[in-house]
Amino acid sequence: MTTVAWLGLGAMGSRMALRLVRAGHEVVVWNRSRARAEELAGARVAATPADAVRHADLVVSMLAGPAAVREVGPAIAAQARAGTTVIDMSTIGPDTVTWLRDALPDGVTLLDAPVLGSVAEAEEGTLTLLVGGPDDAVTRWTPLLSELGRPVHLGPSGAGAAAKLVANNALIGTVGVLAESLSLADALGLPRDVAWQVLGLTPLADQARRRRPAIDSGSYPPRFALSLALKDAGLIVAAAENAGRRMPLARAGRAWLTEADAAGRGGEDYTALLGHILGEEDQR
Ligand code: NAP
Repeated sequence: MTTVAWLGLGAMGSRMALRLVRAGHEVVVWNRSRARAEELAGARVAATPADAVRHADLVVSMLAGPAAVREVGPAIAAQARAGTTVIDMSTIGPDTVTWLRDALPDGVTLLDAPVLGSVAEAEEGTLTLLVGGPDDAVTRWTPLLSELGRPVHLGPSGAGAAAKLVANNALIGTVGVLAESLSLADALGLPRDVAWQVLGLTPLADQARRRRPAIDSGSYPPRFALSLALKDAGLIVAAAENAGRRMPLARAGRAWLTEADAAGRGGEDYTALLGHILGEEDQR
């Protein structure tokens, strides 16, 4: 049996850690707000990240973003024993993966494995895990990761984190273009039914079909919080700038998310960006 230290029991982490408990692993959990850790039936609660990590074979972090990982990372580095693997599944970008890898002592291996999918997929174990890191560690942990979804090994350390930014750039951009297309239809006097019909004939057809119920109801209950999408948009723009790439569309996505967040929509689902761009009040 593997002893797993699980750090971070938010919307995603709580569901993922529960799957490992149910699969029969010994899971020691730590969460910054202890109450959430105590809600996780079948897991032992650690008072600090260091206590969770001390006796673990595997350490998994599923935290909000780079700031959280940089806060918790030193405790992982101080306590992880040689032979331990650390898997970070948060969306943090390749720079923070490199920072964490450099902070870990010799003999401790890091995999980056951010996820595609949201809370439903986390609950059902059908996430896609975008994995970066050495072959042997990926092979070793594939059976356990398969309890959470489908691991896809994309390359060396940082490849998973990079891939996740690519995926989220597509996600954020698509929602932005959908919203602006509907806004244009409104401005040109096309009834919404006609706008949906037209969008159904474009590359946005699938997104239009999926997002229409939320737009029609004006309700965007949180799965992937808009504030987290804004964090990701910031990571994407920073990565592009560091590489000297011009990405005005990514900047526009970040600008829209910044506005929506400032308008108080950060706790809603990121698709509340649609409501914000369309000038609709939240109907919840
Ligand atoms: P969440 O519900 O906001 O949970 C965030 C977690 O990070 C909580 O455990 C929180 O602790 C912890 N945390 C935040 N700041 C911290 C700090 N400074 N120090 C220590 N712990 C800190 O987020 P989530 O939806 O589970 O997402 C987790 C990660 O997965 C994020 O990187 C997100 O971008 C990514 N992701 C999310 C989704 C989704 O659909 N939700 C999908 C794919 C990827 P507290 O409980 O104490 O606040």
